[in-house]
Amino acid sequence: MGFDFLQLVNLPRWNRKLLFGYWVMIIISVIATSVYNLIAFLNHNNQYAPVVSMNTLWICVALLCIEALHYWMNRWNDYIIIIGGAAIAFGLIFTFPTVSALLTILYLPILISIFYFQIRKVVFSYLVSLTCFYALYFLNLCYHDKYNVSDLIAMTSVLTVGAAAALAIMSRGSELMAHLRTSIASSQDLLIKNIIMDKLAKTDALTDLYNHMAFHEYLDKLIEQGEKYKFSFQLALLDIDHFKKVNDTYGHRAGDAVLTKVAQTMKEMVSLNDFPARYGGEEFAIIFTDMELGESLLNLENIRKRIEGMSHEELKGQSVTISIGVHDYKKGCSKEELFAGADSALYEAKRSGRNRTIVYRPPK
Ligand code: GH3
Ligand code: MG
Ligand code: MG
Repeated sequence: MGFDFLQLVNLPRWNRKLLFGYWVMIIISVIATSVYNLIAFLNHNNQYAPVVSMNTLWICVALLCIEALHYWMNRWNDYIIIIGGAAIAFGLIFTFPTVSALLTILYLPILISIFYFQIRKVVFSYLVSLTCFYALYFLNLCYHDKYNVSDLIAMTSVLTVGAAAALAIMSRGSELMAHLRTSIASSQDLLIKNIIMDKLAKTDALTDLYNHMAFHEYLDKLIEQGEKYKFSFQLALLDIDHFKKVNDTYGHRAGDAVLTKVAQTMKEMVSLNDFPARYGGEEFAIIFTDMELGESLLNLENIRKRIEGMSHEELKGQSVTISIGVHDYKKGCSKEELFAGADSALYEAKRSGRNRTIVYRPPK
């Protein structure tokens, strides 16, 4: 089964968060400018910076454009977010060209590209950051004494190292993801294997009905519930008549084929709420849980008649019959009593001629 990791990462939600982060950055720049002005005021320094300059408004306009592109061009969202980071970096450095520490913000698009775990996006962000820096340098920074060609070389190197580090982080992340992918795949495998094992442990290999153990587990639970709440169910034991003779006459293989067909008929004729099991050998049990005795008897009679009416080519066209003993569970009845009742009804069905259904009547 495939596993979509992009779904796990939930990129659209992250893109939204990043956009929100960009707005926060603008607010922080306004706060930082206010703090700067306050310090300048306290130091009786007249070099105030405008708290909301024309450039800040331009950054807001750029961000609004990014928001619009993000809304309309879903397919390119990741690239749009990277460009958004670069636009903010550009705007802030352009606004405060003398604050050299701000140059580090050019790392922003590269850092953001790591989110997407794709080499081409890291390379794209690196190129965008580098282009921004060169544009800033030739449009603005080179006119300030603070900067010279060595900054150009240094910043190019710094951004290159940043991109390389981003690629390294990403490849480590990819390694972890691959590991996670295999662990998830193997735990899914294990889960499926467990389900199959569980089914195998509960079903009979020949007939595909529930086996003896599963039957007892289910009956135990039902009796436990029956003790707590008022509800009725019926236990029916079904035994193929003179099956030994079938084996003796037509062979064990033919006997197996008949067992499978009889079991299949039972499975087909009970509802999903009923529990058909191979109790052992040529003996079956069905628990009816969602009906009254009358209805389950009708069901059992239908099963008996259907089996009686089936001719088996393995038996040269002969059919087999079944005898059935039924016990209607009543609160307070133990599992042993329930079984003993059904068994004695089955015995009675055999004794009185076979191919019939007998209900256990407790002695008065
Ligand atoms: P009754 O009508 O009294 O039930 O007679 P019966 O011959 O069916 O009962 P008995 O208990 O004497 O024999 C049951 C036979 O069922 C004996 C055994 O060979 C056969 N049997 C039990 N399990 C299997 C099985 O898995 N495959 C086959 N082919 N036969 C089985
Ligand atoms: Mg039998
Ligand atoms: Mg038997």
